[in-house]
Amino acid sequence: VAGQEHTTAMPQQPVGVYLRHGQTPFFRLPMADIERAGPAAYEGADAVLLGVPFDGGVTYQPGARLGPYHLRRTSALVGGHHPVHGIDVFGALDVRDGGNVVAPPFNAGAVRELIQAEVGHIADAGAAVVLAGGDHSISLPALRALQQRHGPLALCHIDAHFDSSTAEIWGERFHHGTPVRNAIEEELLAPGSLFQIGLRGGWKDEYDADFTRDFGGTMVAADEIDPQLIRGLGARIRDAFGDQPVYVSVDIDAIDPAFAPGTGTPVPGGLTSREILSLLRSVAGLRVVGFDVVEVAPNLDHADMTCHLGAQLLYEGLALIAVNRSR
Ligand code: MN
Ligand code: MN
Repeated sequence: VAGQEHTTAMPQQPVGVYLRHGQTPFFRLPMADIERAGPAAYEGADAVLLGVPFDGGVTYQPGARLGPYHLRRTSALVGGHHPVHGIDVFGALDVRDGGNVVAPPFNAGAVRELIQAEVGHIADAGAAVVLAGGDHSISLPALRALQQRHGPLALCHIDAHFDSSTAEIWGERFHHGTPVRNAIEEELLAPGSLFQIGLRGGWKDEYDADFTRDFGGTMVAADEIDPQLIRGLGARIRDAFGDQPVYVSVDIDAIDPAFAPGTGTPVPGGLTSREILSLLRSVAGLRVVGFDVVEVAPNLDHADMTCHLGAQLLYEGLALIAVNRSR
């Protein structure tokens, strides 16, 4: 019977119980005690999943605000035992659904403040945070909160785009095309501690890579990715980041639109589903303090394929946290 193999106090709900309740928490997990304010809501948790239904930072097709709802629904299909890492993720970790960050969808500044506060509460409770976006503008306030608690972060940024754009186009420096630039300019990242993986064009101009290069970051284009490179890349990232606190940010548009069509700014020629899973598994051992999956737009999806991948990626993030915390 599903669920009986678990020995911890708060495992996934068995399928029958989940269906009887008719509610859809992430991965059939218990809810955090969200009636309580501040870190008390997350007392005892090792990791907390937080939905951020916001896409006011999107420059092209909206829809990522619906991500958390559909990622919760599709995540119910994912079981806890990770056969590659050999770990029962929801047995090794006490993981809770922390609900959503609730903010006016038309007030991006307020959203950033609320995200930063809630991620801070989760970190103060001693838990790692896994965010389900939402568009990529939600990563910056999460990085701010975690940098305040852990010091300068290392960032593993998986994306078709550099996300180091400026205020030049829109007259606004906070949107889904700028989190990496802002994180670096705000000194949230340790010097050089940046990998950007899955990059591809067309670029705005020939200088698009300069910001990452000047920072000392490492760029890996999507068309460099193959199984052998991924194995070596995992080792390179682990060597470069060492024991630093790491934030892993997965923009679903890193994946090829053939595998992940449900996103606002798709770019042909991306990673396959298998390649992103291999890549995330290859970095096991990193000290992951934060993880996000952003830019899943269910209204642009077909047959939930992007949502199922997004849910699996959230699970892979939790697995990385479980591997690290079990050592
Ligand atoms: Mn992108
Ligand atoms: Mn992005």
